[in-house]
Amino acid sequence: MRWSRTLIDTLKENPAEAEIVSHQLLMRGGFIRKVAAGIYDYLPLGRRVLLKLEAIVREEMDRAGALEVLLPILSPAELWQESGRWEKYGAELFRIRDRHDREFALGPTHEEVITDLVRKTVKSYRQLPVNLYQMHTKFRDEVRPRFGLMRCREFIMKDAYSFDRDEVGAEKSYQIMFETYQRIFKRCGLRFKAVEADSGAIGGSFSSEFMVLAETGEEGIATCPACSYAANTEKAQGALPDPSQAEAALKPRELVATPGKHTVEEVAAFLNVTPRQLAKTMLYDADGQVVAAIIRGDREINEVKLKNALNAVNLVLASPEQIKAATGAPVGFAGPFGLQGVTQVLMDDSLQGAVNLVTGGNQADMHAVNVTPGRDFTPTRVLDLRLTRAGDLCPRCGKPLDLERGIEVGHVFKLGLKYSEAMHAAFLDEAGQEKLCVMGCYGIGVSRIAAAAIEQNYDEFGIKWPLALAPYAVVLLPVAPKDPAAMAMAEDVYAELQAAGVDVLLDDREERAGVKFKDADLIGFPLRLTFGKSVAENLIELKHRSTGQVEMVPRSEVVAKIKALIQAGI
Ligand SMILES: [Zn+2]
Repeated sequence: MRWSRTLIDTLKENPAEAEIVSHQLLMRGGFIRKVAAGIYDYLPLGRRVLLKLEAIVREEMDRAGALEVLLPILSPAELWQESGRWEKYGAELFRIRDRHDREFALGPTHEEVITDLVRKTVKSYRQLPVNLYQMHTKFRDEVRPRFGLMRCREFIMKDAYSFDRDEVGAEKSYQIMFETYQRIFKRCGLRFKAVEADSGAIGGSFSSEFMVLAETGEEGIATCPACSYAANTEKAQGALPDPSQAEAALKPRELVATPGKHTVEEVAAFLNVTPRQLAKTMLYDADGQVVAAIIRGDREINEVKLKNALNAVNLVLASPEQIKAATGAPVGFAGPFGLQGVTQVLMDDSLQGAVNLVTGGNQADMHAVNVTPGRDFTPTRVLDLRLTRAGDLCPRCGKPLDLERGIEVGHVFKLGLKYSEAMHAAFLDEAGQEKLCVMGCYGIGVSRIAAAAIEQNYDEFGIKWPLALAPYAVVLLPVAPKDPAAMAMAEDVYAELQAAGVDVLLDDREERAGVKFKDADLIGFPLRLTFGKSVAENLIELKHRSTGQVEMVPRSEVVAKIKALIQAGI
């Protein structure tokens, strides 16, 4: 492709709304343009990246024996009602009405639609196992769409669903997909990790996430350097390295004035205790009920664990009005005793055995001292509600855990009978007995991988695409288009590379060299061939974008050299 014939619109400045690197560089490099919040156009460069991704995913899914289908984006409410998710999915499900007032969902995932298809088409054990997948646009009504392709309202996913005769078969299907995902992310040139995860709105018994490792990742990953344990911090069950102990005799509870002291650190310093001696009382609205979650002052509540423990659909912090009604005090002074209208009091096990704690006093500018669980308040349940952090102990081997950051790009679930039972997806076994299909489901955020690849591979000048995902593998850059010798050599090399099947872009613009170099670095082509003064000596400069390595290559060797680099995956 010639630069002058494609539509590449690079920007000099970062768009104001772009908060993270991948969003900035996708906009500046001319890959995407915003249409509305969380909704984007993919320009030719962006589309090429997506097509490369889709090709890798498709090849590996096909290799694994999965069959490609195409399911509708619009799905009738009745299917979602059958599974119970019309109510349970919450506000993220886009819902629309047709002219006859019938309700539909814009699919965020397709368990209901595929289960409906399978119950209508699969009759016999002979048709199983079957794994059906599609590559399609998905919708999610995000509270706050942001971060470009990382958290959109409309995005491209590969979703796959396996149906097996029994648990043993389902386990095998899951393992095949697990291995397929490893091959896919490896081929994309990404550094990634498979971790144990929470199953969230999809449900099911067990799931693993595939995380692209990046400092900017939204997800925390707890990993054990000593064994293979790795889990999303939402799910990780790190044991406390420093459990609470009853070190002192119980003292009577008292209220003390703590004017102007709000944070754990301020209150601890004022009362001359450590943050560990404090207990935070957090009030939440769980599906309309006010509940309390109590945790040691030096730890944080993990809202995913709390939501799962409560089996809640929607969990949000309680409103100031709800807090006032429950504690009699304004926000910031809640304590665990004497709460009104609170249906459950859940206590993190970091407070197991703790005595003489400092808590909110349920009065403005007051805290309580010498509060002891069991005496001053009775937890409904004591369980692990914490965010795991570095130094917590591995649940498998007891060694301290490390913490990394990652971006979720894939998720594989063991669903079991959740959907086949609710929607009656059954088949006849060898003995003519009716049995339910055992299901698994497997997603890959195709458009999100593009963003994740950038978060993992960039520098101050722009993107460093992994070869497999780059819109073009090589850019040819004649420094002076008016120099006939340089231009002629660039044209010849362009034709030869094209004939060799290499993805090549010829920057034939009549632009200053500085502009061309900047654009090439910004867009992030893995290889750049510069046709400058050394053309007179039959030499072409080859630069690797990822390492910055530069070498002079004789004209006669350049095509073979590029082909060899691409063959080797660079
Ligand atoms: Zn371990």
